[in-house]
Amino acid sequence: MESIEFDGVKALIIRKKIKNAYIKIKSSGEVVITAPLRYPSVLIERFFGRKLGWIKKRKAAVLARPAKIKNLYIDGEHVELFGKKYALNVYNAKKSYVVLNCDSICLYVKDGAGYDKKKKAMDAFYKKQLENIVPAFINKWLLEIRAVAPAPITLCFKSMKSKWGSCRVNERKITLNTELAKKSVRCAEYVCAHEVLHLRQIRHNKDFKDFMKRAFPDWKALEEELK
Ligand SMILES: [Zn+2]
Repeated sequence: MESIEFDGVKALIIRKKIKNAYIKIKSSGEVVITAPLRYPSVLIERFFGRKLGWIKKRKAAVLARPAKIKNLYIDGEHVELFGKKYALNVYNAKKSYVVLNCDSICLYVKDGAGYDKKKKAMDAFYKKQLENIVPAFINKWLLEIRAVAPAPITLCFKSMKSKWGSCRVNERKITLNTELAKKSVRCAEYVCAHEVLHLRQIRHNKDFKDFMKRAFPDWKALEEELK
């Protein structure tokens, strides 16, 4: 198998009957260059070199995504809530609901319920848990960024595959990933502050990053936890 390495980044080369070379970054972080059949390797090297900055950025972003499936929600599995581990007990019931105990979480679902049903019930549970803490964080950080005329914020929670949160500035709508309830409360606040800060600064520029670093001196550990 043909491959190429430059500046610590490795890429696999696949030849196909195509006209132009392109790069793909797999969810595992693996870099693949697909090139035309008789494309000279010197051109692939040049292409790779030109795209290296972009590849590094994309690779970091891909690896920072939450894993696709973290829990299967089966009886006896460990699930997390705000950074603490709980034993998951699954019981049969007519209606799905979730009960939080000291060190266990009980998931009640219909007999034979599959992953999707269980995930739906757990997502609703995680949403409820986030709703208990998130509004206070949003208000706190709206004050911190001195948002002028703090019009109400629309808060949404949903299970997302590729990000922890998003902010639609024009609609003043913040969406948070329900998976965030599995991380520490500090992490949840960090993501809330990040999304609120977008109301003042859309881009992740130097001001944005400096503000976040000042506000969260432990930002490195938090970023690590969110990986
Ligand atoms: Zn952002």
